[in-house]
Amino acid sequence: MYRSHNCGALSAKDIGKTVTLCGWVQKLRDKGFIGWVDLRDRYGVTQLIFDAERTAPELLQAAKELGRETVIKIKGEVIARNNANPNMPTGEIEVLVQELQLLNAAKTPPFTIEDQTDGGEELRAKYRYLDIRRNPVKNNLIFRHKVSMAVRQYLSDQGFIDVETPYLIKSTPEGARDFVVPSRMNPGQFYALPQSPQTFKQLLMVGGMDRYFQIVKCFRDEDLRADRQPEFTQIDCEMAFVEQEDVLHVFEGLTRHLLQEVHGIDIKEFPRMTYAHAMKTYGNDKPDIRFGMEFAELNELAQHRDFNVFNAAALVVGIAVPGANSYTRKEIDALIDWVKRPQVGAKGMVYVRCNEDGTYKSSVDKFYTQEDLAAWAKATGAAAGDLICVLSGDIDATRAQTSALRMELATRLGLRDPKVFAPLWVIDFPLLEKDPETGHFHAMHHPFTAPKPEHLELLDTNPAAVNANAYDLVLNGNEIGGGSIRIHDRDTQSKMLSLLGFSKEDAQAQFGFLMDAFEYGAPPHGGLAFGLDRLVSILGGQETIRDFIAFPKNNAGRDVMIDAPAPLDQEQLEELYLSSSANKQ
Ligand code: ASP
Repeated sequence: MYRSHNCGALSAKDIGKTVTLCGWVQKLRDKGFIGWVDLRDRYGVTQLIFDAERTAPELLQAAKELGRETVIKIKGEVIARNNANPNMPTGEIEVLVQELQLLNAAKTPPFTIEDQTDGGEELRAKYRYLDIRRNPVKNNLIFRHKVSMAVRQYLSDQGFIDVETPYLIKSTPEGARDFVVPSRMNPGQFYALPQSPQTFKQLLMVGGMDRYFQIVKCFRDEDLRADRQPEFTQIDCEMAFVEQEDVLHVFEGLTRHLLQEVHGIDIKEFPRMTYAHAMKTYGNDKPDIRFGMEFAELNELAQHRDFNVFNAAALVVGIAVPGANSYTRKEIDALIDWVKRPQVGAKGMVYVRCNEDGTYKSSVDKFYTQEDLAAWAKATGAAAGDLICVLSGDIDATRAQTSALRMELATRLGLRDPKVFAPLWVIDFPLLEKDPETGHFHAMHHPFTAPKPEHLELLDTNPAAVNANAYDLVLNGNEIGGGSIRIHDRDTQSKMLSLLGFSKEDAQAQFGFLMDAFEYGAPPHGGLAFGLDRLVSILGGQETIRDFIAFPKNNAGRDVMIDAPAPLDQEQLEELYLSSSANKQ
């Protein structure tokens, strides 16, 4: 028997028992005639004691020679500690060791395995299995498990069936490139790894499964952005015979359930906002609504004077920053530099100080009267003591810049408390978006999303104006999920694919299987997918999804522990028809 208890289990009520424990040597304190070892496993740490009075001399000597991270098994008696440690669950006891067995030696680890480690990110990634021994990483993985079990329980209780869909498939466009897998048995042909199980879950609806879910890996070959993983996990769901309202209802329920299970939080409000409103009021489609600073469009109030910068702009937008009139001139200049950084891209920023005495002082006093500025203050909701920041230019760019400024200021002002959760549905997305360079339409969500029934006719006359029954779930300024009501008839699907630039032949070759299925009694259906990694990291109150993935890839898409991706040897390349010599044959 390896163990009678784990290292987090023993307390005062076990005093007097003889126990067997296994674990890793976290720390050794050697005081000559007495020594302590902190023995660690997943469940906790138990203090072991060896001393010259009660321990055999060879055993005391062996204990003193234990290196960090050695794997040992001990047998001993639970005794009361002289100095109890109230901060440790096992802090009232220690185990007086009678037998010690070395199960495996360990090299000195490359970084300290403690909550605060001296290891840099790269080093810890290379030795991820050692990093996982540390509480912060271990606890994140346990937290993830808790969230995913709560998801499974909830969805199963709601009648969703967990069905696995294949990984070796044909391309399903979700807006990224595919990872592909060469087929040895079909020379020159490739599978694609799923960007999502989208078409399969729709086929499950045609198959009558009615409610499907899966916690599933998805693969997207995207240019790497910070905190993106080429493989990530979705909570993927689909439902038959539903309207948008039914889907929102179920997943509002799931979100509430998770916040209740994980944090004991009862969400009072679950607001909805149209895409158009989100863009106009927050400058992006995933607004953080935990704080105000809403946009006020100032065109009418600001374009009647001689200030040409504003007169030439398609959009003039102001936000009131609470309490920021206290900023010094230097701080405001730094903020102007911040919005001018290439990552934000504004040309400049106009500001108005709202003084306590009710007067205003702006960077454009030459052009605007106190009454003008008072009207801006009213429009932005600025009070005495606030600072109004105004950006201007093209509509899309100005909204994006003002949104970046709003988020930055909120972070600086401490308005983004990770312990406060504000979910939000963003609804009524446009069906299509036009590529500004090529003029081609792309599906805003994906090509299987249905136009709103009342917009069906616009599909022929003005496709850009068509909205979809598509929705995103936003939590604290992050998109954590999205979905839609789907097309379920051949004609609409084929019209959609042709709008997206597919020839009839291409459409049939790529999506014929789906359109064919629609001709055999496809029920109306819809669904969504949540990003599990991001959801878990937000619920966990942390920024990076990597901290919640057991074996993540780095920012260059590499697994530095196993050193992947890696070249293949010539023989394997030839077998897969991938080498130039094989191609020549
Ligand atoms: N397949 C979609 C996605 O991965 C989600 C959905 O529409 O259900 O974003």
